[in-house]
Amino acid sequence: MSRLPVALWLLAAMCPAIAAPPVAFEWPQGQRAAVSLAYDDALDSQLDTAVPALDRHGLKGSFYLTLSADTVRRRLDDWREAARNGHELGNHSLFHQCAASKPGRDWVRPEHDLDAMTARQMQEQVRLASTMLHAIDGATLRTFTVPCGDTLAGDGDYASDLSADFVAIKVTGGAVVPDMQTLDAGAVPVAASVGLDGAALIALVDEAARRGTMVNLTFHGVGADHLAVSSEAHAQLLEHLAAAPDIYWTASFRDIMTWVRQQQASAVPDAPPGTRTP
Ligand SMILES: [Zn+2]
Repeated sequence: MSRLPVALWLLAAMCPAIAAPPVAFEWPQGQRAAVSLAYDDALDSQLDTAVPALDRHGLKGSFYLTLSADTVRRRLDDWREAARNGHELGNHSLFHQCAASKPGRDWVRPEHDLDAMTARQMQEQVRLASTMLHAIDGATLRTFTVPCGDTLAGDGDYASDLSADFVAIKVTGGAVVPDMQTLDAGAVPVAASVGLDGAALIALVDEAARRGTMVNLTFHGVGADHLAVSSEAHAQLLEHLAAAPDIYWTASFRDIMTWVRQQQASAVPDAPPGTRTP
């Protein structure tokens, strides 16, 4: 029998880099969970209902603008004002391209069919959307929410090559993040909130607090527009969050994921002397 496996076992037992327990993940003020409130598609009800509700409580959200949306053209000053008040203007592409081949996608217009685009075309458009957002809010760091959660263009994945362009990228699927240290900033899950009442929304943030992780709630319309939650449900959630700032860190997705990436980087243990590879 070779003696090499025994030597490796001894090394593992003696080496702190292997034997050390994982470093605990902490939120900035010792809160129990982070909550990202996100609003996709640049809708009137977000400016008319969601932004005033957030501002009343001093909470910050992330608004993912589809740059070609009529609401961006008509209400550019309102979006700019929201950014000045500390809300994030996130990237949700120029034209909200989704795969028309998926079930229930009759609404996808042929000129906005992701299946008919190359990954390179989509990447160029998303980067142009970031340039336009920079012209609106002056920010250089932001996050991206993949329209419909569809990452596959006609010739392959387009989102992974964009990970260096953003603090983080959201895709669909999942609800409360199970583990912060292993969370991939390039594919963060989001919880759809369409149709949920106040109690159901509060149950999601409470679950995040129990786990000590985070939840990303994505809204569309608030009290109006498509895929809506009621303004009452939205208000109940905000009251719950604002009443317990020691439990919930409610912040823009940009700020939350900047913190998460710093925590993940600092949790990587240094190799002890003599074990570093050249
Ligand atoms: Zn969308």
